[in-house]
Amino acid sequence: MLPFQRVTIIGMGLIGSSLARAVKAQMPGVLLRVSDGSPDVCERVRELGLADEVCDQPATAVIDAEHVVLAVPVGAMAGVLAEIAGDMAPGAVISDVGSVKESVLKAMTAAMPSHVHIVPGHPVAGTERSGPDAGFASLFDGRWCILTPEDVGSAATAQVAAFWERLGAKVEMMEAAHHDRVLAVTSHLPHLIAYSIVGTASDLESVTRSEVIKFSAGGFRDFTRIAASDPVMWRDVFLNNKDAVLEVLGRFTEDLVALQRAIRWEDGDTLEALFTRTRAIRRSIIDEGQDTDAEDFGRPHDGGAA
Ligand code: NAP
Repeated sequence: MLPFQRVTIIGMGLIGSSLARAVKAQMPGVLLRVSDGSPDVCERVRELGLADEVCDQPATAVIDAEHVVLAVPVGAMAGVLAEIAGDMAPGAVISDVGSVKESVLKAMTAAMPSHVHIVPGHPVAGTERSGPDAGFASLFDGRWCILTPEDVGSAATAQVAAFWERLGAKVEMMEAAHHDRVLAVTSHLPHLIAYSIVGTASDLESVTRSEVIKFSAGGFRDFTRIAASDPVMWRDVFLNNKDAVLEVLGRFTEDLVALQRAIRWEDGDTLEALFTRTRAIRRSIIDEGQDTDAEDFGRPHDGGAA
């Protein structure tokens, strides 16, 4: 049995279009309506045939939907919620795929009428690419999807969990604030470091930009891939997960200074001990099968992105 018969996705970029493809592949009986703020994206989605209906207005797309998933940047969620709130069907479930959860949960609670069930979510899967052409159906296969509802035991939560499991994802429940602290460490800080290091390299006076590009070795190349991630999406992640990111950034800065001191004092034991510990962490991630996700600092599933 299908968890939902009528599903609506708003925002048809990388994640929304991957979700649409996965729904069509795994639940072909679902009536899928989609919408996007960009007329060009709507047009491209029609050309690609990703949904049963492409609506120019999000409010039109949610009428009669049992499950509405917002796949827009986190900073755009409140605006979309305000647009659709009056048209949500009684008993419908509102969810999302945003990379930050506490701010989204607050925005949903403030905007949605009491007859709508709120089950925020975050599939921990992605690549550095954007737009409807970048999506692919297997993106969520074997990946974690974290749900952060206030009512973990509700029927709506069980339905959303079943929905993601049908797409091949593994589901974990988490409190929204805890999700934001965990992702600050595993995803947001690594992206900040990548943005920062690529910026530093391109600003150095002693090394030309063409030398950076020409001699870019493995480590730097991986950073440039991550630093190519969508600027708007990541701006919104940092603005909406400010406290948790600043907290881990403080710890990271202290640890970096300790490494700086170890190099200055030629303390090889400290360096080697850390690198041995970090190598073991990498091994555990591979053993868990979680080494193929760009949002997690790995590689995209289909190998389509660099
Ligand atoms: P994306 O490829 O840039 O797609 C976002 C889409 O939403 C774009 O087509 C955008 O149109 C549209 N949009 C923006 N504002 C809108 C609005 N007010 N109303 C309707 N549509 C609007 O981004 P994405 O990577 O799919 O990210 C979408 C969400 O998934 C974000 O919340 C992000 O945090 C989350 N997420 C991303 C990843 C990842 O690795 N990328 C992983 C997990 C979760 P325009 O381009 O015209 O603005």
